[in-house]
Parts: sequence; C-alpha cells; structure tokens
Amino acid sequence: MAKRYLIANWKMNLPPEGVESYLANVGGADPRDVTLVVAPPFPYLKHVSGCGEGMCVAAQNCSDHESGAFTGEVAPSMLRDCGADYVILGHSERRNLFSETDALIARKLSLAISKGLKPVLCIGEDLRVREADQVARFLADQIKATAVPELETAEEVILAYEPIWAIGTGRNASGAMVAETILDIRHALERFWPAKFAQTSIIYGGSVTPDNTPDLVEKGTIDGFLVGGASLDSRKFLAIHAGLR
Ligand code: PEP
Repeated sequence: MAKRYLIANWKMNLPPEGVESYLANVGGADPRDVTLVVAPPFPYLKHVSGCGEGMCVAAQNCSDHESGAFTGEVAPSMLRDCGADYVILGHSERRNLFSETDALIARKLSLAISKGLKPVLCIGEDLRVREADQVARFLADQIKATAVPELETAEEVILAYEPIWAIGTGRNASGAMVAETILDIRHALERFWPAKFAQTSIIYGGSVTPDNTPDLVEKGTIDGFLVGGASLDSRKFLAIHAGLR
C-alpha cells in the first residue's frame, strides 16, 4: 500500500490563529499512518521545522540552479539547510502565474532529487481540457515531460493530482472523477516513469474541506490530500485528517 500524506499548502499566507498555536494543535495530533506535512512560505521554514514536532516540512518551490546570480531564487540545498524535507513542484499557480513550463519543472525535479528533497509533483488539467475529454492524454504528457533520469535514484516522489478548475474555487472534483483520473495517472506512470513508481503515492488537491473528504476517500484510491485554503485553520486541517481513513 502506498504511503499516505496530508499536506498543508499555506501559499503566501499565515494561519489566522497564529503559527505557534497552529503548530501546537497539528503537532499534538496522532498522525496515525498519515504523514503530516506543512508547507509555509520560505522565511518560516526553519521555524516550522524547529517547532513542528510530528510534522514534516515542505517548501512551496525551489530554483533549478544550485547557486549563483539568480536574485530572489532559493536553491534546494538551502531549503534542506532550513529543514525542508519535501518540495512542492509544478503547482498550477507557479505554472500559470509565473509561467513555469514542463521543461523548467523537470529541471527543478532533477535538482531537488539530487539534493535530497522529496518532490510533491503537481499535475492537473484546466476546464477546457476536461470538457474536451482530453484529461488522460494531457496528464500523460505532463508525466512524460518530467521523466528525468534522476527518478532512478529518487527515494520518494509524490504525485499531486490538482485539477486547475478546482483549486481555490470552492468547486472540488467528485470522488468518482478523481478515482477514474488516478487510474489514468497510474497508466501514464507505468508507461513513462521507472517501474518502481507504479505504486507511488497519488494525492488529490482542489478545494478539499472536511465536508467533501468522505466522498473523496470513499473509492479508496486517494493516498491523501494537498490542501490550500482549508489548511490555514488547524481545526479544519485536523478534521480532514480525521476523515482520511
Ligand atoms: C492548493 O493550493 O494546492 C490547493 C489545492 O488549494 P485549495 O485547497 O484552496 O483549492
């Protein structure tokens, strides 16, 4: 069985209840067989990794360069120094707002793996692709484009299926739709990635809340969630965790 994850993507926000209180609440929970991960903005990584007992830490992005004249960028090795275990790559906000291409994401993936970060690679279609019934092909292309040689040595890569039309919109995919898409993703992984990833963890993201968690987990194919908005409230985040049976 694949490892299960619940990842809080704070984006460029802090929890309204305060970082200390949030970490105390989430860190105090029994994670059961779910790895709890918090992805704060870069300046808070060290603090979260120092305080967040029982939690792992993820960066929300990294550079595709090891060092040098790249003002405003942060190298994977620096993220490791600040306590990051994981790095989110290819988030749709990075792809759409910061024009990240599959080629750039593939370079980031290679470097992150080689520096010991565990990538959480986001893939997902927009509404136009979904309505044109091209989802399987679109996701297979994203997976093929990130089939980098470093995958052979990677200890762990988590796939996050995040349909763009469901992120931050309050409109989530149904459990049945996600289960079907996860099968498509597994077929593409079999075709394009090393065999060891056939059973890698595939999590879902897109307007997950405590209310829609039961429908999403019902089919039993989701290995966890990447949560944005609802992850900023420790009570909601823990309620989603409780629903991940
Ligand atoms: C995300 O940031 O990856 C995300 C899924 O956000 P939200 O839960 O707010 O849709």
